[in-house]
Amino acid sequence: GEALAVSARVAPLGSRLVLLLVEDLTEARRIEAVRRDFVANVSHELKTPVGALSLLSEAVMDASDDPEAVQRFAGRMQIEATRLTNLVQELIDLSRVQNDDPLEDAEPVRVDELVAEAIDRCRHAAGTKQITMAAGGTADLFVHGNRGQLAAALGNLVENAVNYSPARTRVGIAARRVSAPGGDLIEIAVTDQGIGISDKDKERIFERFYRVDPARSRATGGTGLGLAIVKHVVASHGGEITVWSAENQGSTFTLKLPEAGSSRDRARHRSDRS
Ligand code: ADP
Repeated sequence: GEALAVSARVAPLGSRLVLLLVEDLTEARRIEAVRRDFVANVSHELKTPVGALSLLSEAVMDASDDPEAVQRFAGRMQIEATRLTNLVQELIDLSRVQNDDPLEDAEPVRVDELVAEAIDRCRHAAGTKQITMAAGGTADLFVHGNRGQLAAALGNLVENAVNYSPARTRVGIAARRVSAPGGDLIEIAVTDQGIGISDKDKERIFERFYRVDPARSRATGGTGLGLAIVKHVVASHGGEITVWSAENQGSTFTLKLPEAGSSRDRARHRSDRS
């Protein structure tokens, strides 16, 4: 009777311990698998342009008596080299933000400057597709954050809006102040009239290297890292990002970021110093 009672008391505790251990192991395995996938993805993404460059340089040598062909191959080499540069730059950006370290060099950042910069970055791509870009509501708004990171995040959203939209559509960027329990927030919404994202894909687009249509992404110079960078920038700023989308109608990506000078911001400063 006695022994039975003891083991009955130990058993639930024991099984809980085992369960915790199993959960820990599963989580550790999951993290390890994600890391391995990432390394495999990076290697694959690097190999593609490097392989193309090597083939193209051979083609250039073989075509030395055909200046037109040399021109054509050289043009394609330039595209592949740009792709490689973009990828390496985005990997650097991602590694800077994904450790979710406390924010460095945070300062009040003008929203109209961030928006102007993002539009500038996409002007060429938008121009060739006759996409109109319009911004509104950005005057006199300040976000508390790291200027470079915020510019990268907004730039990525606007770039995607242009890349995943058909010609002669409109990309809008609208900013406003919204009040929230912890202090005012700045909301920046990027809206396109593009191909949209299905509900199933919506859950995955913030993962590194996840693309709905890899061929389309590559054709526009996409790396599959943009939204992963955005997600980490938003996290390190204590912000939020939401997506609304309807297939073949368009998408809206909405950033919510702490306003510079809000009480939330001051609280953060205090805790940074302590
Ligand atoms: P990419 O470099 O491929 O654009 P991102 O991480 O920025 O990588 O985006 C991941 C994927 O999410 C894209 O490949 C695309 O399929 C989808 N996506 C992102 N933004 C949009 C958008 N505005 N409209 C439609 N699809 C989008």
